Amino acid sequence: MTLTNWARNITFSTDRLHLPTSVEQLQELVAGSPRVRALGTGHSFNRIADTAGDLVSVRHLPKDITVTGSGDAATVSVHGGANYGEVAVALQAEGLALPNMGSLPHISVAGACATGTHGSGDGNQCLAAGAVAVEFVGGDGELVRTTGADPEFGGSVLALGALGVVTRVELATVPTFDVRQDVWLDVPIDRVVENFDEIMASAYSISMFDDPATGRQIDRLWIKTRIDPGDPTGVASAPDGTRWGGRAATTQQHCLTDHDASASTAQLGVPGPWHERLPHFRLDFQPSSGAEQQSEYLVPREHGAAALLAVQSLELREVLLGAEIRTIAADDLWLSPCRGRASVGVHFTWRDLDAEVVRAAAAVEEVLAPFDGRPHWGKVFSSDPAAHIERLADFRALVARHDPERKFGNDFLAQHLGI
Ligand SMILES: Cc1cc2nc3c(=O)[nH]c(=O)nc-3n(C[C@H](O)[C@H](O)[C@H](O)COP(=O)(O)OP(=O)(O)OC[C@H]3O[C@@H](n4cnc5c(N)ncnc54)[C@H](O)[C@@H]3O)c2cc1C
Repeated sequence: MTLTNWARNITFSTDRLHLPTSVEQLQELVAGSPRVRALGTGHSFNRIADTAGDLVSVRHLPKDITVTGSGDAATVSVHGGANYGEVAVALQAEGLALPNMGSLPHISVAGACATGTHGSGDGNQCLAAGAVAVEFVGGDGELVRTTGADPEFGGSVLALGALGVVTRVELATVPTFDVRQDVWLDVPIDRVVENFDEIMASAYSISMFDDPATGRQIDRLWIKTRIDPGDPTGVASAPDGTRWGGRAATTQQHCLTDHDASASTAQLGVPGPWHERLPHFRLDFQPSSGAEQQSEYLVPREHGAAALLAVQSLELREVLLGAEIRTIAADDLWLSPCRGRASVGVHFTWRDLDAEVVRAAAAVEEVLAPFDGRPHWGKVFSSDPAAHIERLADFRALVARHDPERKFGNDFLAQHLGI
């Protein structure tokens, strides 16, 4: 059987995929394997999950989503194979929520946390920053649990699969809330640049979508406003995009031009639960694979507008399907591209054209270099992420402790982190 990632731009270097049905089976497998690597839902676009040894998925481990505590102190512990969509549905049933989600609810919690996956919002950190504990099978097959109280916790969740196979993640929660989505079309780029901070701070979560074919404008300004009990429709709280030169969308929109908008979560200002509005895509829409690749760079928040202008100056029409701009709050995770700085994510959805994507990503990296753009771990890049990691020596020591024989190593980790 040929194993590929979701986008099918990566064929894994092994055909051995193991699907243990108990943690004990997983422990035996890891203890007996010289080279093993965890695979989540395969939504990464590079060789981060690859191995020539044993690939292991935890998706057949017993499903168990358990809430502990109540109110602001409530946390949810989820099995390693859980995806954000199923966790969200379970939390909503308990009157709870996660502060944020990525664009696609089908992505696994363990895999998303491992790579620094994020949504948008000035006040929202990457998803891994919401973890309060993690459990994994280390290189010797022993089960390890580490929590926010441990000094190494900052290197243990966003860990690129280098410490072991994650069997559980415990996440902080918040009380449930509602959100409405409004999309504003054709916002002139000069108005966006002039008002960048105001726009990005105007609601709970904002995404700007840019179609390279349409020139100097943001095609869709996608605003997710948190509903305040004093304003149940959100009409008074939702920003009016005409103030930046936009016009209200009167039909449902997709992130990319000319794509089927029925895959998108409900827009047109209709309030609804957080988990049916924060992701861009609906949980009941299941994209099995996509003919696309992605790259993303995280630049310091203060350079967001200049970075947007810089990438707009590139001629990317032949290879770019669309770009997205989001904001992410700072965190202190050792390998996080948002470590120590509030960030703007400059994202590219490329046509599935390998050589052209590599060339286009390199061109983007060149224009973003003056802004110290840090690559997203799960997407296509060619720059050197290690240059940004102050705690690399600490991370290497952590890897040496949990995986002294380097069972979980692969070419990606060797190339980018020297482990
Ligand atoms: C359509 C689409 C939309 C996306 N949207 C966003 C977005 O909104 N924001 C964003 O930031 N990114 C986004 N991404 C990128 C995606 O979130 C990341 O690539 C993420 O890592 C994918 O998770 P996964 O479970 O598929 O992990 P995989 O791709 O399977 O693996 C990624 C890494 O996680 C490790 N890993 C996975 N499971 C485990 C485990 N159980 N234990 C230990 N390590 C593990 C792997 O070893 C590997 O190193 C998107 C990708 C796609 C395809």
